[in-house]
Amino acid sequence: MKTVAEWHQQAQTLAVNGQAFINGSYCSAASGKTFDCVDPASGRVLAHVAACDAADVDRTVRFARAAFESGVWSRMSPAERGRRLVRFADLIDRHSEELALLESLDVGKPIRDSLAVDIPLAAKAIRWYGEAIDKVYGEIAPTDSSTMALIKREPIGVVAAVVPWNFPLLMAAWKIGPVLAAGNSIIVKPAEQSPLTALRVAALASEAGIPDGVFNVLPGYGETAGQALGRHPDVDAVTFTGSTEVGKLFLRYAGDSNMKRVSLECGGKSPNIVFKDAPDLDTAATAAAWGIFYNQGEVCNAGSRLLVQREIHDEFVERVLQVARTIKVGDPLDPSTEMGPIVDRSQLERVLSYIEAGKAEGAQLRVGGERLAGLQGNFVQPTVFDTVSNTMCIAQEEIFGPVLSVIQFDTTADAIALANETQYGLAAGVWTRDINNAFHVSNALKAGVVWVNCFDKGDMSVPFGGVKQSGFGRDKSLHALEKYTDLKSTWVHLSSVD
Ligand code: NAP
Ligand code: MG
Repeated sequence: MKTVAEWHQQAQTLAVNGQAFINGSYCSAASGKTFDCVDPASGRVLAHVAACDAADVDRTVRFARAAFESGVWSRMSPAERGRRLVRFADLIDRHSEELALLESLDVGKPIRDSLAVDIPLAAKAIRWYGEAIDKVYGEIAPTDSSTMALIKREPIGVVAAVVPWNFPLLMAAWKIGPVLAAGNSIIVKPAEQSPLTALRVAALASEAGIPDGVFNVLPGYGETAGQALGRHPDVDAVTFTGSTEVGKLFLRYAGDSNMKRVSLECGGKSPNIVFKDAPDLDTAATAAAWGIFYNQGEVCNAGSRLLVQREIHDEFVERVLQVARTIKVGDPLDPSTEMGPIVDRSQLERVLSYIEAGKAEGAQLRVGGERLAGLQGNFVQPTVFDTVSNTMCIAQEEIFGPVLSVIQFDTTADAIALANETQYGLAAGVWTRDINNAFHVSNALKAGVVWVNCFDKGDMSVPFGGVKQSGFGRDKSLHALEKYTDLKSTWVHLSSVD
């Protein structure tokens, strides 16, 4: 493992490219405009990034469409597409230090997490679909004997992937893997805060043999590049991860334009429910703390509402506070850092304003609540509010920062009601020794993912996504392919043969 000094040295000499990647080559936005990409830990400008807009979107869609219709990728055998995707994943792994450094500089994520989580899991997601796609079969329907009805999955065409800044490459990879494996062309629109890794891997995609026009990356603002993709008449699908507010805009864009398919992975306010019979309070408390403080709390499925049964409340909260107090916040390039800065100034202000709102609403601030003294950059202390009521805004609105709201409950019925009293339904945790209680609660929770006696577990084989205003459609697993394919039913009439 490199030292902090070695990482900083590498950061000084790192080549950072801010150009868009269209039809197999890097280029500037047609307007020539750029925006600054800033390191949230130091304030340093890392790159001037192409500010793509509707003109660039239109040009890229034409290339992506031409590549799709040519069949160079869409009609390539699944086995060969798979081989190239595996090669792409191998190249990401081979460049993992460079990519991890780019990710940490771009969004302030601790280097230990970029190296251990973001980059290897991004490679794994792409590899998983590369390895899977030649094992996916069509169907023959059980019609009567005078017909043969074949049901086949066909790629959709041009898919736009609009992604957020909290796990920039990983969220993109959850889309890139299945979109490309299914034979589509893709246009990735990274968040303005975090374009660097998507742009870097574009060259690796080419090197792996993904044809020109099939894989494109368009950095730019949401209101311009994002909206133009959402409204483009020749984009067949948008796969989106981001806020609920912007997710709703994509539904509108699709309705106003060509009824493109939309799938949405949006925000959350996930309850983590700890019953008095939780198997091990230390394990549960550590998981509860990291369930909100991991990645600076910038996690869609963060366990931001901790529901604790009254009998164990005082003792349990004390254990969570102990973890919160020992988290090492600081320089993301220091391998011992556990929490970095908030991604940018406006998100920092948003987090601080929620902390003020929590105090004003009468929640009890138990730890944190301030910017970190002595450090430049957007650093906030791990923050815990106790005696929160579920109607307070810190319990209802997604803060997307290291702020935990602790809520007490008495009975199982109370816990279920509190857990479900939210517009969101992404994920939930349940801690109990009683298997009957575990399944009863899990069945009653309106959430796409439920963790019992664990939190934030994931695997490529298991779907991820939400219900209610956390969105619809699933990333990961073979189910993700459903979003990027359409079913074709072909009927063949069989005449009788003498
Ligand atoms: P965001 O503001 O919704 O942005 C997501 C993407 O949409 C970005 O690429 C953004 O571009 C673009 N966008 C913004 N405004 C747009 C518009 N008017 N039209 C079209 N596109 C637009 O979300 P974020 O702030 O990047 O990320 C945080 C959110 O993502 C949180 O709510 C979090 O819960 C959610 N999230 C969900 C999941 C999940 O799987 N459920 C995973 C991770 C994050 P700009 O960057 O240029 O604004
Ligand atoms: Mg944004």
